[in-house]
Amino acid sequence: MREIDFSKFSSIKIGPKVEVEEIDEADNLPKGVFLIGGANNLLISPNPPPLAMLSKKFDYIFEDEDGVHVGAAASGGKVLSYAKKRNLKGFELLQKLPGTMGGIVKMNAGLKEFCISDNLISVLVNGEKIAKSDINFGYRKSGIKGVIFEAVFAKKEGFSRELFEAFKSMRSNQPKLPSAGSCFKNPPNDFAGRLLEAAGFKGKRFENMAFSGIHANFLVNLGGGTYEEAITLINEAKKSVFEQFGIELELEIEIVARH
Ligand SMILES: Cc1cc2nc3c(=O)[nH]c(=O)nc-3n(C[C@H](O)[C@H](O)[C@H](O)COP(=O)(O)OP(=O)(O)OC[C@H]3O[C@@H](n4cnc5c(N)ncnc54)[C@H](O)[C@@H]3O)c2cc1C
Repeated sequence: MREIDFSKFSSIKIGPKVEVEEIDEADNLPKGVFLIGGANNLLISPNPPPLAMLSKKFDYIFEDEDGVHVGAAASGGKVLSYAKKRNLKGFELLQKLPGTMGGIVKMNAGLKEFCISDNLISVLVNGEKIAKSDINFGYRKSGIKGVIFEAVFAKKEGFSRELFEAFKSMRSNQPKLPSAGSCFKNPPNDFAGRLLEAAGFKGKRFENMAFSGIHANFLVNLGGGTYEEAITLINEAKKSVFEQFGIELELEIEIVARH
């Protein structure tokens, strides 16, 4: 067990201090728990379900003839530094993409048309190797059920400075305040940020939470913001966008609460 204060650990700086079970092996996985990675995409309620996370044992990177093996507890930043040093391409999108490789693969995280599954070969889920072709990767989803322990990526030479710099500049409009990244998924052929802005939510504040004035699709914590405040703003925005444009916004942030 590891005690985690989610008001410090999570990127949005909201959540209680609770015991989190550490997973050390693929056998005997805990049941009925919500698995967390780095909590960069989560909004954790004051009364969450039991939580678990991978132990440091899964924070590794090595190469062999199959490719680049990355433990799911390794951070995206660590993998990016490794790829830069070893001159490997396909990892440039990890620039300022916060999270563990488990969370990043599960969410098929990415930016614009690039996503982490582009360069993926296989994953180890609950101790079983699954080829990429057997996984239904889509926009910010993988459909993977179970615990990702490792991801194997193609080993190709040629880390691209240009792509790396392009990702850096794509992120230049992201707010610096604590957030969990994009709040809503982009609906087909549209942008959640555009809809939120058109519905009057850019910069809209409720108590200590707000939709950023820099980028409307970032729900930011102005300092001491709470779960309830975040939920209030999310619900108001969804309702208003639906009433005005007939579009049902889908959350990209995951709400972790007992149902
Ligand atoms: C400032 C900021 C910018 C961001 N920019 C982007 C962006 O450009 N693109 C983007 O896609 N996302 C972005 N995000 C969101 C976030 O970085 C990604 O969703 C990332 O994948 C979260 O990884 P995590 O380890 O923190 O996962 P968590 O937030 O802890 O969990 C996310 C999901 O992954 C699951 N999960 C975690 N670990 C595992 C595992 N080992 N096995 C199976 N499932 C697991 C969890 O159960 C949960 O469903 C941003 C977030 C922030 C704060």
